[in-house]
Amino acid sequence: MIIQLKDINKTYPGVVPLHVLKDINLEIDRGELVAIMGASGSGKSTLLNILGILDNYDSGEYHLDGVLIKNLSENRAAELRNRLIGFVFQSFNLISYKNAVENVALPLFYQGVSRRKRNALAMEQLERMGLADRAHHLPGELSGGQKQRVAIARALITKPSIILADEPTGALDSTTSHDVMNLFRELNAEGMTIIIVTHDPGVGAATNRIIRISDGRIVPDEPIITDIKPQIIV
Ligand code: ADP
Ligand code: MG
Repeated sequence: MIIQLKDINKTYPGVVPLHVLKDINLEIDRGELVAIMGASGSGKSTLLNILGILDNYDSGEYHLDGVLIKNLSENRAAELRNRLIGFVFQSFNLISYKNAVENVALPLFYQGVSRRKRNALAMEQLERMGLADRAHHLPGELSGGQKQRVAIARALITKPSIILADEPTGALDSTTSHDVMNLFRELNAEGMTIIIVTHDPGVGAATNRIIRISDGRIVPDEPIITDIKPQIIV
């Protein structure tokens, strides 16, 4: 099991504190392709940010790859994040004045990899995304789908164990969304664990499991009734 959440609670403080995650229990195995679905404001991004060690929780326990994620120093959190997690966002979060290959290579810059090596690795990722001919274009010169593939290449370049994607198709048309989901399915077939926050039922349907969240709580799965014959217990 790569992700295990036990009784996670989180409240945003304020004049009126907001109890945004309520007793979340969740287990995700290595190699799963999962959607987290729920209405706007239900707590999806908060949950994903906790999974990605971008935000803290108040009570409960989160184990990531067997490590208890609690009271970590910023350095330790960053080390785990950089080693284990690749992020993909709705708005791509590419640096506008850097070209595609430089954007993809950026995480390796922070790991101290030489320019020559990181650019070679970034080119490899762009090639597998079918974007080799766009390597020297700026984000502003790319379509939405191309930008998201650059962002996915950037997420993959550190060889993470998990991809966390927050509404990755939210800014894309339906054909392009479909292409991005096919890409995620391919990566998953190669063993990557992928967790996608979405409110698009089409995206949810393209995953292997849907976790529903409503008002900060996980909605239990409907019980599967396999045998409706009355049981006689002797
Ligand atoms: P979702 O991604 O499902 O739309 P979020 O996790 O972003 O939901 O937000 C859940 C609730 O928490 C919303 O009511 C939102 O306004 C609130 N919220 C999100 N981030 C913060 C924050 N940093 N401070 C205070 N409230 C927040
Ligand atoms: Mg959100």
